[in-house]
Amino acid sequence: MTGTDLTGLSASALRDRIANRTLTARAAVQSSLDAVKVSRGGADGLNYLLWSDSSEALAEADRADAAMDSQPPVGALAGVPVMVKDNIATLGLPTSCGSRIMEGYVSPFEATAVRRLREAGAIVIGKTNMDEFAMGSSTEYSAYGPTLNPVDPTRVPGGSSGGSAAAVAAGAVRIALGSETGGSVRQPAAYCGITGVKPTYGRVSRYGLVAFASSLDHIGVFGRTVDDAALGLEVIAGADPLDATCDPRAVPLYREGATERLDGMVIGRPAEYFPESLNQRVAERCERALDRLRSLGAEVRDVSLPHTPLAIPVYYIIAPAEASSNLARFDGVRYGLRVEGDGLREMYEDTRSRGFGPEVIRRILLGTYVLSAGYYDAYYRKAQAVRALIADDFRSVFESGVHALFTPTTPTPAFAVGEAADVYELYLNDIFTATANLAGVPALSLPIGRVNGLPVGGQIIASHFDEATMFAIAYALETALGEEAHR
Ligand code: GLN
Repeated sequence: MTGTDLTGLSASALRDRIANRTLTARAAVQSSLDAVKVSRGGADGLNYLLWSDSSEALAEADRADAAMDSQPPVGALAGVPVMVKDNIATLGLPTSCGSRIMEGYVSPFEATAVRRLREAGAIVIGKTNMDEFAMGSSTEYSAYGPTLNPVDPTRVPGGSSGGSAAAVAAGAVRIALGSETGGSVRQPAAYCGITGVKPTYGRVSRYGLVAFASSLDHIGVFGRTVDDAALGLEVIAGADPLDATCDPRAVPLYREGATERLDGMVIGRPAEYFPESLNQRVAERCERALDRLRSLGAEVRDVSLPHTPLAIPVYYIIAPAEASSNLARFDGVRYGLRVEGDGLREMYEDTRSRGFGPEVIRRILLGTYVLSAGYYDAYYRKAQAVRALIADDFRSVFESGVHALFTPTTPTPAFAVGEAADVYELYLNDIFTATANLAGVPALSLPIGRVNGLPVGGQIIASHFDEATMFAIAYALETALGEEAHR
């Protein structure tokens, strides 16, 4: 087994080799652990992993190897190493949300998505770094230090799920879970040159996902390739009695829809996602991808989503408003950190002001403000009304016979570590991704080329619960681009 380059294998190929016993789960897990060791202040210092238990992961691998012969059928991810963002609850490993306030917290229950990965045979290597409470776009707001981009360590990996994206891009795992409130899977996937999927709101159970903004939160999946991401989503999606917002409809087998032709498909090119100000070379990569889609038989149609420019103000009212309410539970009594003070009020205040970092405090203040008496109608209620208009934009485009949309995932490639000193500028980075969270529609980012050596992501957005169309287009485009996706 030594000398085998496992990073070249897809998740399903890895699983097949483990299932047919030409590779052990132990060897697969060991190769992930070796990669992690390098990332920890070691040779590359990427800092994508926060918590892991290597002896437990190896023991699980040994159990999987032992069970493989005696207990068929073998799961869809048998022996495949995976990682999980640190705001998704796991048994046996901390769930800190990249925050001091959750330091040392180990959940007494496990997220449904994680349970399903394990039931399919996956082995959880550890919990990945993230912007504190998933607020951010660069993973620089983690209380445990920034994650660096494996493609170019002077660059951010994106965020907030930057640890999961970097782990997959570095080859430590093929599949990792992330979370999305406003682009936190697609944007880091774009920056790191991998695939990231945000399913329809309600497609994947959020039981065990620490809430940020409940009307926008999703669990999403990273893969090295479209197929890895499709396989990961197939495993975790579907009805869950533990989450009332989780939709009961059946989950199609996305991987069976893989196709090379797109004849009859109408793909919308929304004008608002290709503004004059768009980085010229990002625009060129997008036009090349659109050309490929045409040559696969698709019709590319110019469309308009007129309320797109309002997405950022709307998102940055609704998300902080819901966050200020959700984060009230971190009070020094129930979870993690407690700073003892002079009485209960001081204990609350000291715990929260020392436990939360500056960005989280900014969001709580913003959210409390827009929800307060007198401002609720002016900000929060108005934002909800505009959100409905944004969702209507998508509805009317899809009702007009457009099957999916193609856009850039982000306005620029990954920026340098420390470059986004202005928070407002960082917020603007979410312009092409936050819309899908506001509307609840599924969206995916896949690599479509590079600019100055840095990956560029192309985004495919489909209508509610039509991940199958989104994946079919992604499979075809990935094949058509071939090596160009990384050039
Ligand atoms: N960058 C956005 C924010 O800071 C999105 C975060 C997310 O999707 N979790 O809120």
